[in-house]
Amino acid sequence: MKIDDLLKKETFTKEDLIYLLDCRGEEQNRLFDRAAEIKAKYIGHRVHFRGLIEMSNICRKNCFYCGIRAGNTNVHRYTLTDEEVVEASRFAWKNRYGSIAIQTGELNSTDFVNHIENLLDKINSATNNELGITLSLGEQTEETYRRWFNKGGIRYLLRIESSNRELYAKLHPNDGHHIYDKRINCLKMLKRIGYQVGSGVMIGLPFQTLEHLADDLLWMQEIDVDMVGMGPYIEHPDTPLFQYRHELLNISERFNLSQKMTALLRIMMKDINIVAPTALQAIDPLGREKAIKVGANIVMPNITPGSYRNDYKLYENKPCTSDAADDCKSCLEARIQLIGNEIGYGEHGNSLHFYRRNRKRLA
Ligand code: SAH
Ligand code: SF4
Repeated sequence: MKIDDLLKKETFTKEDLIYLLDCRGEEQNRLFDRAAEIKAKYIGHRVHFRGLIEMSNICRKNCFYCGIRAGNTNVHRYTLTDEEVVEASRFAWKNRYGSIAIQTGELNSTDFVNHIENLLDKINSATNNELGITLSLGEQTEETYRRWFNKGGIRYLLRIESSNRELYAKLHPNDGHHIYDKRINCLKMLKRIGYQVGSGVMIGLPFQTLEHLADDLLWMQEIDVDMVGMGPYIEHPDTPLFQYRHELLNISERFNLSQKMTALLRIMMKDINIVAPTALQAIDPLGREKAIKVGANIVMPNITPGSYRNDYKLYENKPCTSDAADDCKSCLEARIQLIGNEIGYGEHGNSLHFYRRNRKRLA
C-alpha cells in the first residue's frame, strides 16, 4: 500500500500530507496505528491535565468564527472574581491536576494586565507554587508577556487559527486589530521570553482546503512549537461565518479530519504536547478519548464554576456546560483509564520538546 511507504519516510512533503489527510478506510487505520506507536515510544501512556478556567468572556476583538466576539450582543458578559479563580485553582491543586490553564477573551488595558499579574501571585500562594500555569489571554506586548512570565506563567497558548495569510484575512475583520504578522510576532516574543509556546489551528473552516491544513502542519514544525491545541471548527449562530454553514464539511468529516491532523502531527513532532480538544467532544462524546488514542497527551477538564460555563460559548453544543468540576474529574478519569492510559496526577507534564529545544540551545 502506498501509505506504508509514506509512513516510513523521515519527513513529509506537502503532497505527502495532502495524501495522508485524504486517506480513508484501511489506510486511515494504518496512519492511526503508526501515530499510536510513536506516541507510545516517545510520550508513553500518560495523560496530563490542565484544569481549564474560563476566567472572562469579555473580548475587544471580533473574530468572525467566535461566539464571544465583541460584536455579539446576545452574550451575558462576566469576569470571575479573584476568589472564584483561586478557589478553582485550589480545586485543581487539591485534586492533583498538576496544572491549570487560564483563558479569557482578549483585553489589553493596564487594569487587565495588572489584574492578571496580581492574580498569579494569589494563585501561587494559595497552591504552594505547585501548579504549572498555562495562559491563553491573546495578543499582548512583550513587556506584558514578560511580567506574567515572571509571576509564574510557564506556558502560553496562542493559536494562529490558520497559518495561511489569505485564509486568516477571511476569518478576521480588516480593522487593524486582527493582523496575521502581529500574531506571529507574539509567538516569537513568547519563545524569546522562555515560555513553553503553544499554537494551533481550527479544522474544517469555511474556505479551508487540505492544502491549507498540510501547510498548517508544516508551519507548526517550522516554528517549532512545544505544544499544540487544535480542533474542529464548530459554527456559532451569532457569528458572521455562520452564513457559510452549508458549505462546510459535515460534522463527522470535520471530526475525522481533526483526528488525522492529530495523528500526523504526532508522527511529525514526536515529543510535543498535544491537547485532545474539548471541541471534539461536542461532536462525539468519546471524541477526546479517540484523540488520545491517535497521539494527544493533554486533556483540559473544565473547572470553571458551573454557573458561568454557559456564557463562555465559543461554539455551539459546547459539552459539559452543566457539569460541576467534580463530575468532570471522575468522568474523565474513568474514560482515560478505559483506553489504557493513566493520568499523571500531581505532575506538571511539561513539554518534553521544550526541554530538548532548550538543552540544544544551551549546549
Ligand atoms: N481570546 C484568546 C483565547 C480564547 S479563544 C484567543 O483568541 O487567543 C480560544 C480559541 O477558541 C481560539 O484560539 C479559537 O481557535 C477557538 N475558537 C473560537 N471560536 C471557535 C469555534 N467557533 N469553533 C472552534 N473553535 C473556536
Ligand atoms: Fe476574542 Fe479569542 Fe474569540 Fe477572537 S477567538 S473573539 S480574540 S475570545
